[in-house]
Amino acid sequence: MIVRIRLRRRQDGALFVHPMTPMPRTAILVPGFRESKLARVFPAGWNEAADRFQPTSIAATPDQLRRLARQGIQPQHSVVAFSYDGQEGLTVLDRELFWKSFGVPVFEQLLTSGNELIASECDAHDGLHLAGDFHDRKAGVSSCPCGNPAPRMARPRRIEELEKLLA
Ligand SMILES: [Zn+2]
Repeated sequence: MIVRIRLRRRQDGALFVHPMTPMPRTAILVPGFRESKLARVFPAGWNEAADRFQPTSIAATPDQLRRLARQGIQPQHSVVAFSYDGQEGLTVLDRELFWKSFGVPVFEQLLTSGNELIASECDAHDGLHLAGDFHDRKAGVSSCPCGNPAPRMARPRRIEELEKLLA
């Protein structure tokens, strides 16, 4: 007799904090996040299952978002771009591309390699608010129009962008 043991669904993983409240129906295309009623994880990236979930917001790496932009996927609410600490983040060109392709606000989130939220862009789109216990010596404490009192980090800029700005 074959007995099928039903494993309990693993509920570990990082908590996903959407930058907007109330949280929209979000497809997370990166593994290692905890799921909730409104946030589903599609570890293999965008596929039929993700499409069937009918998310109004998509959270993914800039690379995945570039691909979705090329495929003409159009979330109706927003896009969350995951940048990883120490790795290349969202560029000005990405922002332009995403705005043109998706037509919805783009929020950058800086994560640890374990998907823990370090800092998150807000509605004001002027820097990333530090989350939880994270500190940054260079973070500014000027008040933000969004009302969140947490210090803000400047958006990381790449050399090429600075060159473009100075040109
Ligand atoms: Zn803010």
